[in-house]
Amino acid sequence: MVITRFAPSPTGRLHVGNLRTAIHNWMLARQQNGRFLLRIDDTDAERSREEYVDSIREDLEWLGMTPDAEARQSDRFDMYEARFEALRAAERIYPAYETPQELDLKRKVLLGRGLPPVYDRAALALTDEARAKLKADGHRPHWRFRLDHSAAIEWDDMVRGPQRFDPEKISDPVIRRADGSWLYLLPSVIDDIDLGITHVVRGEDHVTNTAVQVQMFAAMGATPPRFAHEALLTGAEGKLSKRLGSLGIAHFREAGVEPVTLIALLARLGTSDPVEPVTSPEPLIETLDFSRFGRAPARFDEEDLTALNARIVHQLPYAAVADRLPATIGEAGWEAIRPNLARVADAADWWRIVEGPVDAPDPGEDADYLQQAADIAAGIDWSDDPWHALTTPLKESTGRKGKALFLPLRRALTGMDRGPDMAALLPLIGRDRAIERLSV
Ligand code: GLU
Repeated sequence: MVITRFAPSPTGRLHVGNLRTAIHNWMLARQQNGRFLLRIDDTDAERSREEYVDSIREDLEWLGMTPDAEARQSDRFDMYEARFEALRAAERIYPAYETPQELDLKRKVLLGRGLPPVYDRAALALTDEARAKLKADGHRPHWRFRLDHSAAIEWDDMVRGPQRFDPEKISDPVIRRADGSWLYLLPSVIDDIDLGITHVVRGEDHVTNTAVQVQMFAAMGATPPRFAHEALLTGAEGKLSKRLGSLGIAHFREAGVEPVTLIALLARLGTSDPVEPVTSPEPLIETLDFSRFGRAPARFDEEDLTALNARIVHQLPYAAVADRLPATIGEAGWEAIRPNLARVADAADWWRIVEGPVDAPDPGEDADYLQQAADIAAGIDWSDDPWHALTTPLKESTGRKGKALFLPLRRALTGMDRGPDMAALLPLIGRDRAIERLSV
């Protein structure tokens, strides 16, 4: 069974960049009848906030992407400790004592010689006595994972294709700080093994992490999951701007963006499949294919989102929006009004046109014409296409056509120069209100 996970750190709200990763993990799990897990990466106690955990849950809920289960790294420290001890006993983890300044100096020396700044493993070469002395002098070590240099690190990435890294060109990563706190790398692998994760979809900024994590899976006797590293998202101006990176999903919700709009745009952005105005994620889930993801950064433009939202709102079925509409609007009302909406919330304003009172401009020279219309309206059959029944005889008797025929009627009936199709609107306005608004 396919099991995916979305693993945000609760140090901020979800933004479009990490939401996109969540969407793809969720879609893959749904496509494969698998499971989608939320893993809260809260090993950093200082920066993690409970309010962000709550907002992440709320955002996923609102998007209809409720996880099948949730795990929290802060609940799992005992497991990390046990794995840590086993890896230490197997000599895959070793203590290191360099200060940040020493490490920085080493890096500068290597770079100055034109060499890659790879950690020299000096700590691995320490004798037991030297270590005992450091300990006795009160130095507390941080911990590194010893990479296996015997073979290249390889995996077949679902987006990037075959990947190959030379472990000698990568520093043994620090996995635990001197104060005992965890860095992200090892706990993530322990969790992925323990939770049975089969596919990891994340940003390409994690590719080097994946190289060392592939060895961590092996060191713990596990087969790594499949990886899909997607190209990063940028704003319209070239990189994910501070604004977009900090704008929470609530911003879009409040701006009237439908959850399905965010999914429709982010699911397809940066892929060779077109962005389409779908009213449910199902067709996107069916067609999700990581081999169609591009390697170039995907550009996110808020204006595209607004435009896509309007196209989606124009198609949303009544049942999907009924609980957000004025009670009296009904299915016919929704269908008459929706082509004019950029957001569902604007339906109430348009519905006021039907229910009134409308504030029509002074008809001026059209007063007689409107009175004729009112007289005709009183005599027509209102059960079947009253707009046609009204305008056909008016056209014949007055010789008016086009704008001169229609605009005074629209103004008197709705108070506006433009709006929903009058043929759809007039039956909703109904006989009595129409006659009243036409009579001047
Ligand atoms: N907490 C990590 C992040 O937000 C998770 C990365 C991953 O998916 O493994 O970058």
